[in-house]
Amino acid sequence: MPTLDFEKVKPHIDLPREAERLLSKSEKEIRFSLNLLLYPDGLIEADAYVVYHNTARGPAKGGLRIWPTVSLDHTRDLAELMTWKTALVGIPFGGGKSGICLDPRELPRAHKTALVKEYVHMISGEIRSGSYVPAPDLGSTPSDMAVIYGETHMPESVTGKPPRVGGLPGREEATGYGVVEVASLSCQAFLKQPLSGTQVAVQGFGNVGKWTCHFLSERGATIVAVSDITGGVYRSDGIPIDELTAYVRRSGGVGGFPGDELTNEQLLSLDVDVLIPAAVENVIDDRNADAIHAKLIVEAANGPTTPAADPILERRGILLVPDILANSGGVVASYVEWRQAKSGAMTRAQETYAAIAEQLDAAFQKVLETAGSRRIPPREAAWVVAVAELVQTMRDRGWIPTDE
Ligand code: NAD
Repeated sequence: MPTLDFEKVKPHIDLPREAERLLSKSEKEIRFSLNLLLYPDGLIEADAYVVYHNTARGPAKGGLRIWPTVSLDHTRDLAELMTWKTALVGIPFGGGKSGICLDPRELPRAHKTALVKEYVHMISGEIRSGSYVPAPDLGSTPSDMAVIYGETHMPESVTGKPPRVGGLPGREEATGYGVVEVASLSCQAFLKQPLSGTQVAVQGFGNVGKWTCHFLSERGATIVAVSDITGGVYRSDGIPIDELTAYVRRSGGVGGFPGDELTNEQLLSLDVDVLIPAAVENVIDDRNADAIHAKLIVEAANGPTTPAADPILERRGILLVPDILANSGGVVASYVEWRQAKSGAMTRAQETYAAIAEQLDAAFQKVLETAGSRRIPPREAAWVVAVAELVQTMRDRGWIPTDE
């Protein structure tokens, strides 16, 4: 997964050597094994990891991934991504992540519950102290977060809980809401046109893709293409998102929805105003970057564009709004849920949306200003803003020498 390139940041800020060293490695990495004897399946053994990348700004925040491809290296990259996101959108969290290397789709619910309880038991000190605050990620659900809460009895120890268990109204759709907020700001700033009336293609129709489509359509954009792992559909007059959502609920995927059939690769090369990759990593690379015809790419997935594709897109004049800005609505909502848990207050969905818009709008303006004044692409500008914020925070905390 692509991570931050310090060489691109250095020409634009005063980056002390000590800061670069601290930000180039994880602060803490825990590797453990989850062993559970469960009947009738026998012994479940799974490698598990917790990584704190940087906690200068606050507790390590990041999801629990339960997936067969989980590794320490990948958990480290994802924790790093959280450090940049939380700094960029200005919330008092650090970057963290945890992972369990196992296929959750093969586990009966009771076994998954037992697994999550064992996970809490093994890293009890991290979670109960509030140093690491998990949330749902690939393979873990709000119900799993309710299990974590059931073990700690501390509502602020975990976010992404179901609303009935102290979860936040608006959390489920938060990332998609933020993607559309950033897409709207980007259309105004870069394409000089409102989001309403633009033609958009969205890859992925899971949590992020579905809610992105919902809010795009609410704001008057025309979604001409959607695809997922089962296939894709194109309709020049716009895809009715409520109908597609109902269809996917019934059939399990986008493939076969009425309209012109198209593949994931064809969706990426459509001549649209805005392309939103909202599925998986590394889908835009140096082999297909030349075939992209969108004017603007808004990265809803984590790491959908490889570093080799960036200069090709730039040369071709295609603007790209990076993941650490576009998909940070979820972590802002997590912060609101954590604050709600600590205060005992209750929050309405509209307040969640307002908090996301406020933090993302402010971050967007900083990125825009930095990109303009430094004449660098938005991805590099976002890195510059995030790293500058962390350098100052680490000075405030006495982690690195001050200027005097
Ligand atoms: P999800 O599992 O709910 O949905 C993933 C979607 O991608 C599904 O529609 C699936 O069919 C599709 N997909 C999978 N493999 C594909 C392939 N090879 N080609 C095309 N489509 C494929 O996941 P999600 O929560 O929507 O997350 C999507 C992305 O957004 C991930 O990169 C995730 O890390 C990132 N993200 C998610 C959140 C969040 O709050 N859920 C927050 C920030 C970033």
